[in-house]
Amino acid sequence: MKIIEPLFSKNILHRDDKIRNYEQLERMKLLQKSNCFFVLLYRGQFVFNGTTQDYIFSNQAYYQQYSTPKDEIIYLGTFQNQHYFVTILDFLVHTNQLDDLKMITENINIDNEHLSIMAQALGIANWNQTHKFCGQCGSLNQKQHFGWKKYCTKCKKEHFPRLDPAVIMLLTNDKNEVFLGSGVRFPENRYSLLAGFMEPGESIELAAIREVYEESGIRATFKSYLKSQPWPFPMGLMIGVHLTTHQQNFKLDTNEIRTGRWFTKSEISNYFKEEAADFSLPSTYGIARNILHAWSIENT
Ligand SMILES: [Zn+2]
Repeated sequence: MKIIEPLFSKNILHRDDKIRNYEQLERMKLLQKSNCFFVLLYRGQFVFNGTTQDYIFSNQAYYQQYSTPKDEIIYLGTFQNQHYFVTILDFLVHTNQLDDLKMITENINIDNEHLSIMAQALGIANWNQTHKFCGQCGSLNQKQHFGWKKYCTKCKKEHFPRLDPAVIMLLTNDKNEVFLGSGVRFPENRYSLLAGFMEPGESIELAAIREVYEESGIRATFKSYLKSQPWPFPMGLMIGVHLTTHQQNFKLDTNEIRTGRWFTKSEISNYFKEEAADFSLPSTYGIARNILHAWSIENT
């Protein structure tokens, strides 16, 4: 099955460890250079540039128009001798248009490489914003590694960026149908792959099997890994996998899944051909759609 690269997963930046380890003086010198570019975040939303590069600001534009003394600057990476950073603005000097990443992804034409940089920016900013204090002793953490590490000033514990991995399952049966559920928070008749967070002490395989059983009552077998997608809402990683089952009947966990059923391959492929359907699939930015599309055109 050939799944196209999901959105947010085409990051071209080299995360240069040498730069992450710069001392303060070196960091300040680097930030003055004209080959530095900034994504500006204010309260979790992206500041719109309004000019050529949409959401990426040149060094000059940032320092002249937006920088304030309490901004937090995190190094993202380097591409073709251009250094990218995310700045968490302390306050907004100008009244700019602010947009959230899901809205941008759905409505604005930006290539996946740039969206991936923005997703990285949002994810690491979310971690920085929610880990200001030490989880071990409650004291103030100090930022290190240009935003990629925190260090507790009291108990000396080091904290590194964390992710919340979730599994998302393409579940197929002996008739080569796919099982989709309509979550309780979905719009009516919207269906998607079953998914759920991994738990401590679980492999990806076991988490996928457990989630399918909990949500649908279906006993399934792990078949293969498919593809993954960074999901910075706030710090997720979606792991797409394929499970198979001989079981046709199911019993839904109605606290999570309002309704569910088996879909034939032609139902799904017709949907992607924009033929009329009595159901809808998830919007374009999630990996579920990529997986379902790839499955629907696969010749089996
Ligand atoms: Zn501590």
